Amino acid sequence: MLRVAIVGSGPAGVYAVEALTRRGDATVDVFDRLPSPFGLVRYGVAPDHPKIRSISAALTGVLEHPDVRFLGNVDVGADITLAELRTYYDAILVASGAAVDRRLGVPGEDLPGSFSATDFVAWYNGHPDAPIDAFTVDARSVAVVGMGNVAVDVVRLLAKTADDLRSTDMPDHVLDVLDRSHVTDIHMVGRRGPVQAKFTTRELRELGEIANADVLVDAADLELDPVSEQLLATQPAARRNLEVLRGWAERRPSGRPRRLHLRFWLRPVEVLGNERVTGLRVESTQLDESGNAVGTGAMSTIDAQMVLRSVGYRGLPIPGLPFDERTGTVPNDAGRVLGPGGPEPGLYVAGWIKRGPTGVIGTNKHDARETVASMLEDVPNVPLAPERDPDAVVRFLADRGVVAVDWNGWLAIELAEIELGQQRGSARARIVQREALLRAALAAARSDANA
Ligand code: NAP
Repeated sequence: MLRVAIVGSGPAGVYAVEALTRRGDATVDVFDRLPSPFGLVRYGVAPDHPKIRSISAALTGVLEHPDVRFLGNVDVGADITLAELRTYYDAILVASGAAVDRRLGVPGEDLPGSFSATDFVAWYNGHPDAPIDAFTVDARSVAVVGMGNVAVDVVRLLAKTADDLRSTDMPDHVLDVLDRSHVTDIHMVGRRGPVQAKFTTRELRELGEIANADVLVDAADLELDPVSEQLLATQPAARRNLEVLRGWAERRPSGRPRRLHLRFWLRPVEVLGNERVTGLRVESTQLDESGNAVGTGAMSTIDAQMVLRSVGYRGLPIPGLPFDERTGTVPNDAGRVLGPGGPEPGLYVAGWIKRGPTGVIGTNKHDARETVASMLEDVPNVPLAPERDPDAVVRFLADRGVVAVDWNGWLAIELAEIELGQQRGSARARIVQREALLRAALAAARSDANA
């Protein structure tokens, strides 16, 4: 049996497991630095998107395969190095995603009140690394920079009421903050036009279905220049988006408590404020011939006491792997890690760390299959790992004092979250702190030992 380690149990990692176990000649250990599996399916997908979250049921089926082991709460690079992993595995596939936010690169970006959407998403999803008190929503007016699906998620959750979200598994401390929200106006700010926006139509439409908020679009923003007209002719998704936006531009606001302003052609130039954020200075833009936004010199200010930057994710270097700082990815050829001298035998990448933070969850299926195909093609030429005892790596981690959470531990966390939800009348509620997750997981290990 081929012994493979997968680093990261998000969609890319799990789809790689699926592709490997289908053949029946590999055993796979899946490492995650968190005590829980599923990566952004658990900690990125918004809590009011249960259908997308339910992908975790299919991912569960893959991880419950008898040839697969889950080893959560193990930080590869810190608890065990890639070089050490190579003692135990014939091939290592890193699917660690893109963990941090991209920066705007404008003055004032680090003022109190200016946050990355990545941090906001982690906080409202109860990520163990997100401090419970990371956010208050005292702002009346919020500027969200970016026109991608993450920006749409953030805007939607700010526009909804805590009551709209109470039936989800959102943690109590988040619901409490949203319950006290002062927000009346949310400005979603795009540096290019409606045709260049990155959101998908289904996500966009949802903004028009929020009972608590009017969506406001300026018809002048939807007038198209020749570059956009040309793009529209080849992009049906952009045509659908434009149709939705045009419908909203014709609608009169109905006086709902919150207003969602979709604003195009504005490039942030400064986050304003001394002690904390008081506004977002923007410059009007137009497209150059290549479709890039260029400033026109016309400046204006958006009233905002909170700024959320939602301009994309970025991968982090993994100790022991080459890294391209420019793209935030690991250089690779069809998933084979490329070092200075060419492909590094037995080392592979999949998902966002391979191709950058693009695409929907399903995109990772094809991506992971491509990498696994490369791995299997290489197998006859890769030296086998010296240690073949599957328990050796578990002993190594225990000797280092690393508390690995196995699949039963994860199932115990799930049970504890269901119990927590029942206490407040929802199907499930998130356990947030890492120590509490570990306590729930280890309770399972203790009862296994006593049985
Ligand atoms: P994204 O789709 O790449 O969108 C990033 C946005 O930020 C774009 O509008 C981009 O504008 C803008 N931007 C980048 N740099 C900027 C700057 N310096 N100043 C102003 N604006 C800037 O990224 P994302 O929203 O983080 O989403 C990441 C991936 O996750 C996407 O593939 C997305 O579809 C996926 N996702 C999917 C769902 C879902 O299916 N429900 C939910 C969340 C995320 P330009 O186009 O001008 O660069």
